[in-house]
Order: sequence, then structure tokens, then C-alpha cells
Amino acid sequence: NSDLIIYVNLELVNRKSNRRYVVQEMLGQGTFGQVAKCWDAETNNYVAVKVIKNQPAFYQQAIMEVSLLSLLNEKFDPDDQHHIVRMLDFFLYQNHLCIAFEMLGQNLYELLKRNSLRGLQMKYVRTFSRQILDALIVMKDAGIIHCDLKPENILIAANVKTAAGVKVIDFGSACMEGKTIYSYIQSRYYRSPEVLLGYPYTTAIDMWSFGCIVAELFIGLPLFPGASEYDVLCRMIEILGGQPPDDLLREAKNTGRFFKHVGSIYPGSEARNGIGSAYRILSEDEIEARESKRPKVGRWYFPRGRLDRLIFTYPWKNLSEENLPETEKADCLALVDFLRGLVEFDPNK
Ligand code: ATP
Ligand code: MG
Ligand code: MG
Repeated sequence: NSDLIIYVNLELVNRKSNRRYVVQEMLGQGTFGQVAKCWDAETNNYVAVKVIKNQPAFYQQAIMEVSLLSLLNEKFDPDDQHHIVRMLDFFLYQNHLCIAFEMLGQNLYELLKRNSLRGLQMKYVRTFSRQILDALIVMKDAGIIHCDLKPENILIAANVKTAAGVKVIDFGSACMEGKTIYSYIQSRYYRSPEVLLGYPYTTAIDMWSFGCIVAELFIGLPLFPGASEYDVLCRMIEILGGQPPDDLLREAKNTGRFFKHVGSIYPGSEARNGIGSAYRILSEDEIEARESKRPKVGRWYFPRGRLDRLIFTYPWKNLSEENLPETEKADCLALVDFLRGLVEFDPNK
């Protein structure tokens, strides 16, 4: 990729006989391979080593992960101030590409689970959001799209200067803006409208996922936990009280999978929020008639209803808008306003 300033040295050192990293325990498993907690005998420190599956496609993508992360670490965040995981080393071991990272803590999904999926206190939502946003600004400056932002890919960082800190990990699906290759990206609950609908995408898709994460940190459950892409889209329309703008629907490749062209009742006028739109979302019956198999019913029906209601009447805290203390009410209003700007159908906004 000629745009990348940092080139990966493909003549990787083969460390077959090296005993630098001693495996202690398994930390996690993902699509790309396994992550092991290791003792680094050279620096006397724990590190996290991601061992990539030894298949060409995974290897290629992992080379991308190494390239983009070294670009971010070295050129855009040399002083480790922007909440992006540090890559410490990479090497080939028995035909597996391995990447050593600084050792971090639990991921945010594990944290939410530990909290019985009831959401975090507003002060943590605020701190973590600010830090993730900091990382996203750096990524935008670098022209890098993460493409897989989700709670599982945000980890608690114990040694961040502030008391509570997080870092963004897993650049295994990342790409350069303007050099996008794949159309099937992002994890379903966090998938942006432009990716769902098949429209050219930018770093704005990470902003969408970020909005989903911020909401989830507060309410404890995913904002759009759709059992299918259609289900995700229906939940977006219900929660946001509108649908993607006609310009996007007209240009997107997959619009016909979810919408029926009905022709605008106000030809030439600007369709807003589905009113006067030339497109109507298909009904469940229409979808069922098209698909051989009925989409699976989701495990979660919550959350449902409008975004502001969701934030104000999150059931766990057993409060309603009326009996919320004034400061909390102001916090919730600010959160809704913030979320509105993030989960915005129009990527240009
Ligand atoms: P995905 O399926 O999301 O694409 P992946 O195969 O790309 O996953 P990662 O997300 O990089 O792999 O890592 C998988 C899991 O391993 C993470 O969700 C996290 O729980 C754990 N993990 C990864 N890196 C670290 C780290 N530096 N410190 C501690 N745990 C880590
Ligand atoms: Mg991951
Ligand atoms: Mg990944």
C-alpha cells in the first residue's frame, strides 16, 4: 500500500529457537486467532501476544494490522497519549504471524457483564467516551478506519495516567480511508447504515459504532441488537424515529434488500425522516416472503422505543423522567444530545 509510510519488513525474523515469550494463559479468542498472556523474558514484563491463524487471508490482514498500528503508534501518537494500544513486537513463529502488545485488562463487554449488564455510572460513561473519542480523532487524522469498534475491542488500561482508562485494540479489520476493499465489515450490532445499505464508507462508520457503544455503556445492553441486518435497520428506524435520507437510499447498492421504491409523493422535495420519502421499509411479511428462512428472533427485545425515552427510563435504575434529580436529568439530556450527533443516518453530518 503506497500510502503507508511505515513498511513492514517481510523478512521477519524466524524465532523458532527463541524463548523470549513464555505463554502463561489464554486471554481471548477472536476471528483472527488467539491471544495469550506471555512473560517477556527480555523486558521482564507481561505482554499480550496475538497468534494469527496460519492461513494466507489472515496473514495478509494481520500485516495490515501491523502496518496501520505502527503508523498510529509511531507517527500519530509517539507519546502514547491517545488511548490506542501499543504494539511492542511482531514475528513469525511456526508459520504463525504473532503480534506482541502491551498487556491490558478486561474488555468493556466483560466489564458490562460483571455489572450484570446494567450499565455504568455516568462518570465512567463520560471518561471512557472521551478517551475513545480521543483515539478516533487520531485515527481520522491518520485516515484510518477501524471497521470493528465494539465493547470487546476496547480494553481497560490499568496504567493510564487517569484513575480509570481504556484503550482501543484490534486493528485486524482496519483499512485506509479511500482504499476500502471489503463491503462486509463491522460487527452486526455496531454496523453503520452505509455499510448495511452498501454505500461508500469513511471514518464516519467508526463514529456510528462509537455512538452505539456509548449508549450501551449507559444502558448496559446493545442499542441495536438485531438478529439480522433487517432487524438492525428496523431497530434504528424505531429508536431514531426516522430512516436514512433518500440520497443515500438512491445510491446504495443494497437498498432493494430492505426497502420498496414507492415514489415520492412530493417529487423534487427534500424527504426528511421518512416523511415524503420515495422509499418504504419492507414489512416483516414482505421480508419473510422473500427469504427462504425466517430471520431468527433476537434474544433481546430491549431496547425499544425512542432514544430519549430509552436513556431517561432505563429500567435498571428504576427512575422515571419525573423523579430524576435535576443534575441527573441534565446529564441524561446531554447524553441524548451527544448520541443524536453520533447515531446520525447521514454520514456527511
Ligand atoms: P475479533 O473477533 O474481534 O476480530 P481478533 O481475533 O481480531 O478478534 P483481538 O480483538 O485483537 O482478536 O483480541 C481478542 C481478545 O483478546 C480481545 O477481545 C481481548 O479480550 C483479548 N486481548 C486482546 N489484546 C489484548 C491485550 N493487549 N491485553 C489483554 N487482552 C487482550
Ligand atoms: Mg477483537
Ligand atoms: Mg479483529
